[in-house]
Amino acid sequence: MLPRVPLWALILAAFGPDLVNTVLKLAGVEGPLETWFESATGVLIVAALIAVLYWVLRQRDGRGALLMGAVAVLHLPADLAANELPLWPDGPRMGAALYKHPAADFAVEALVVVVGWVLYRRSLPPGGRRRWPAWASLALLLVCQAMFSFGWRPW
Ligand SMILES: [Zn+2]
Repeated sequence: MLPRVPLWALILAAFGPDLVNTVLKLAGVEGPLETWFESATGVLIVAALIAVLYWVLRQRDGRGALLMGAVAVLHLPADLAANELPLWPDGPRMGAALYKHPAADFAVEALVVVVGWVLYRRSLPPGGRRRWPAWASLALLLVCQAMFSFGWRPW
């Protein structure tokens, strides 16, 4: 049985490495710290920090902290599929760089969206699974994915 961790916390963990990079960029941080956190090693460092932070803030919930860290580590295969990133600062670059191939990027990411949606939908009570908001959320996620994959941005 998986530990009970709030969905919002899992979403933050999943985006944790990108959130750290965004905060560093907004703060104008440059140099070694920036290059560390843009590498694959940086994703693992952020995952460890997220697990420790969750453990401290949630009354030493070790299983929850492991789940949060694992979710953050799963950011790495996604980054390696979508981008090419250095394994460590100035290290060799690795990744499929699907962002350079929008149709392939959309196919892979839409599949991930659908699998995630199916898993989430199973957690809903039986009456909620067939209601229109469940299907509308899938449609919205796929439209957003198409926008990101093909560069259709309303802003
Ligand atoms: Zn990322």
